[in-house]
Formats: sequence, structure tokens, C-alpha cells
Amino acid sequence: MDLKKYCRELPKIELHAHLNGSLSQTTMLHLKRYHADRGFEDKTNAFFDEFQIGSGDTRNITDCFQVFSIAHSLTSTPETLAMATMLTLQEFQDDGCCYIELRSTPRETESMSKRQYLETIIQTIQKSSLNLTMVSKLIVSINRSCPIHDAEEIANLAIEFSKMYPDVVTLHCGEVCNPEEVLQMLKYKPDRIGHGVCIHPQYGGTDETWSLLCQMKIPVDYDSHHFRELYDAEIPLIICTDDKGVFATSLSQEYRLCAETFNLTQSQLARLSLNACQFMFAEEKRKLLNDAVLNFINKNEL
Ligand SMILES: [Zn+2]
Repeated sequence: MDLKKYCRELPKIELHAHLNGSLSQTTMLHLKRYHADRGFEDKTNAFFDEFQIGSGDTRNITDCFQVFSIAHSLTSTPETLAMATMLTLQEFQDDGCCYIELRSTPRETESMSKRQYLETIIQTIQKSSLNLTMVSKLIVSINRSCPIHDAEEIANLAIEFSKMYPDVVTLHCGEVCNPEEVLQMLKYKPDRIGHGVCIHPQYGGTDETWSLLCQMKIPVDYDSHHFRELYDAEIPLIICTDDKGVFATSLSQEYRLCAETFNLTQSQLARLSLNACQFMFAEEKRKLLNDAVLNFINKNEL
């Protein structure tokens, strides 16, 4: 089967996708139209008009930050946040995703509190299960640059909504070069880490950070670069999009890029997806999703 079609059809598991970074151009235009129809103030025009978001676009980091700020301003009411969540989930499903852990940091805006922000996403995810076959879950994120009382407030909300102390934790670890912090994080033993780029000595890590990761085998979820060292060291790896809107990508495109860049066979790709099932946080869905990927493997004799 043609690789592009194959990557689209392969049932995939998304474990690292930030809601606001995942808004596609179509979703953003939809939200902008909603704002315009209701006469809401929209400050994003000047930048948005000159901004052509297309697949394969290369952007500098300033452009990327501007996309985040547009996304934030377009999701600042409960209505638009709900729409953004629903449209984004639909896009992941259309791309062949069968399970997603969407993540977002509760944000206070003029029209909602952090609590309302969280309630809105949770209710939208619950409603989405009526129309979508994809299983959707939410990871409540805390931005480490925020003040400690904000972090505590979000942690308390997460505990309240999940009705239990969070027994699973994932950390952005080694996204930038900071070996000291990477060591501290690995020693904390999170259930998964995101990115894990600057851990290998060749990419800004040290021998110590790398050997600790190899020893602990903490699963790493990330987009497809710096794949080889982690794959060869048999560290559990999950291919994810992170911010598919900002980087104009999709989960199937990340799988395809990974296959093309690192010469993986279709069978190896399918096994990456199968493996990802082991590291999803929703224990009660594991068998269902595992069977879905296995069926695909058997049907296509991979
Ligand atoms: Zn991330």
C-alpha cells in the first residue's frame, strides 16, 4: 500500500497533543467566523491574513509563538473553546487516530475561570463520544513557568475532577538542553516523558542522563526527529504530533516522515502504534485499542 495512504489508515494512538497548538487553519477560520458573526472583537486579523499555514511550511520560532497567541485568543470563551475541542478531535479521528490524550492547561480569561475552562473541555469530550468512534481523554497540564499558586490551583482542580489523586504523571523532559533538570525529572520516575530530545550526549544530554534513561526505560512520546538513538536503545517510543496546528502536521504525516527518514517498514510502523497502546493512561481502554491495531496488522498481514 502507498505509504501515505497506509499511515492514514493505520489505527494510531496520540499521547501528546496540546489543544491550542493543535488547532488547524480550518478550525481557526471557523472560530474567526464565529467571532465575526457575533460581533466579537477579533485582534488576530492583521497577522492571520498574511499567514498561510500549509503542510511542509517551515516557520521560525516567532511565527510559532504568534500562532499560539492567535489560538489562545480564539478559544477564550466557553463556546469557542468547546468548538475548538470538538473540531480538533474530529480532525484527529479523520486522520485515523483511534485514541487520543489531548492536553491543555486551564486558563483564566475574561469570560471564564480555570474551573470553567476545564469543565468545558471535559463536557465536550464526553459529548464527543456520541459522534466519534475515537476514544478521547484529557491530560490536565501545568505550565512550569507559571507561579506556584496557579500550579496548585490546577492540581487541585485535576484531583477534584478525576476524583482521585493523579496516579499517572507525564513531564516535558529534555525538550531543551538542561541535563541537571533532566536528571531530577528522571529520578522522579514519571510514567512517561514528552520529547526526550536533549538526553542523548550527542544532542545536548550527558552520558549520565542517557544511561539513566536507558536503565529506567521510561516511555518517550514525541514528534519524529531524533528517533534512531532511542529506537535502537529499545526505549519505548510513541510518535505524537505535539502541536499539529502550529507545525502544520498530522499524526499520519509524523508516521510517514518517521518511516521515510529512518527507513522503517510498514510492519515496524504498525508495531510502533501497537506498542503505544501499552503506555496510554486509560487502563480500561487498553485491550479495545490494542485489538483494533492488532486486527489491522492481521488484516494486512504485517
Ligand atoms: Zn508538548
